[in-house]
Amino acid sequence: MADHALIIDGQAVTADATFPVIDPSTGEAFADCPDCSQAQLEDAMSAAQTAFRSWAADEDARRKALVACAAALAPKADEIGALLTREQGKPLKDAIGEVHGAAFWLQHTAGLALPVEALHEDDETRIEMRRRPLGVVAAITPWNFPIILSMWKIASGLLAGNSMVLKPSPFTPLSSLAMGRAMQEALPPGVLNVVAGGDELGKWVSEHPAVRKISFTGSVATGKKIAAVAAPDLKRVTLELGGNDPAIVLADADPKKIAEKLFWGAFNNAGQICIAVKRIYAEEKIYQPLVDALAEVARGVVVGSGLEPTTQMGPINNLPQYERVKDLIGSARQDGATFVTGGDVPDRPGYFVDPTLVTGIEDGSRLVDEEQFGPVLPIIPVRSAEDAIERANASHFGLGGSIWTADVDRGVALARDLECGTGWVNQHGALTPFAPFGGRKWSGIGYENGPWGLAAFTELQVLSVAK
Ligand code: NAD
Repeated sequence: MADHALIIDGQAVTADATFPVIDPSTGEAFADCPDCSQAQLEDAMSAAQTAFRSWAADEDARRKALVACAAALAPKADEIGALLTREQGKPLKDAIGEVHGAAFWLQHTAGLALPVEALHEDDETRIEMRRRPLGVVAAITPWNFPIILSMWKIASGLLAGNSMVLKPSPFTPLSSLAMGRAMQEALPPGVLNVVAGGDELGKWVSEHPAVRKISFTGSVATGKKIAAVAAPDLKRVTLELGGNDPAIVLADADPKKIAEKLFWGAFNNAGQICIAVKRIYAEEKIYQPLVDALAEVARGVVVGSGLEPTTQMGPINNLPQYERVKDLIGSARQDGATFVTGGDVPDRPGYFVDPTLVTGIEDGSRLVDEEQFGPVLPIIPVRSAEDAIERANASHFGLGGSIWTADVDRGVALARDLECGTGWVNQHGALTPFAPFGGRKWSGIGYENGPWGLAAFTELQVLSVAK
């Protein structure tokens, strides 16, 4: 059987064409991925349509199958994690952790209730409300956390009774294909199909008439295209898009105490996280000590191939993103930035950028206003917390944000004023399967995870019964 295969109707299948998958630590191709043809996508859609009816019918069977899927996935974590590091670049322990995280997420989500709510009952009538599945759901995912972000969709989407077609990013398709394959042993054929290909395939998937909902995670630009394509067919959409998360550090915070946690809130996964800290606003009194403390952490970070056991930060995932990050560094330099650390891109193969801390620029500079999605972080002095909140909210983005302070109550009060889906106090980026996740403004539409994420894969149905 081929090393890498599409998953269609429960079968691992090859394709006539392939495309190369690049190892970002070398910039060289290391594998060929099957490129799903339009005819194969038709097969996947019709398999999903056929599988839907019986999958939707038996909630208990679904729960059992999903628990079995989680059990099938966990032992494959080392294998799938190694593939994820090769194609994504992240440190191997993080990649393996991502697969275990996905299994845990699935296990947790499989236990969520799909309650039948009694709305009214008397001698003559009974009115109840149920949550019904939508049909075939398309899941389209990005390259930064391909496994866990796919699982957010798969776990809730399948538990709700939908069948699915997953299309991962062309930069990181192999780990998702391997995950899909590992789950097949516990699923009826056609319930979860995984197809790989370029952006064009994403377009075919989103336009397909069989699809009743598109659950998308990726860039704002693509999210808007998907919303436009969904509109004529009134397909439901959940859009999890980009962010430009602010971290606001108040004068009473202890720079030495918070530096490590704040640093990794920005630089984990080489900054390629939708909810990474992407700009820091620090009150003037603490500004310089904070910059110094962050610089000390940055200088100690081991950057390298994710396969090296000592590596703490891997490369940027792909060439276009690497070019974009370099472009933003250049634009900050033109705006008069000071590079406290980094600033010169290392002369080595692969898409490496050292942790880069930038001062001397502020709002209005592209590096502050845009989503960099890489290991480059601007730190901006502010007069007051209120000044910082105003700057934080003056953005199209509204995904996450954090307040760092010794006064937790004040931190909570300020976090409430942030126009974002998740506000943190003295941490940034922590997520759990039992809280909803989503963005405001251009950061998204709808929610994933917990009962809210599950509900998003259903439609309400009222059953009104005359006795
Ligand atoms: P992207 O939008 O370029 O691609 C995401 C997926 O969409 C890929 O599978 C791609 O092939 C597909 N695609 C591209 N064009 C399409 C089209 N016209 N129709 C249908 N599908 C299409 O995003 P990316 O570069 O892979 O990911 C990075 C972005 O994702 C960042 O902006 C980041 O903030 C965001 N992101 C958001 C979240 C969140 O939960 N809010 C999580 C992770 C990443």
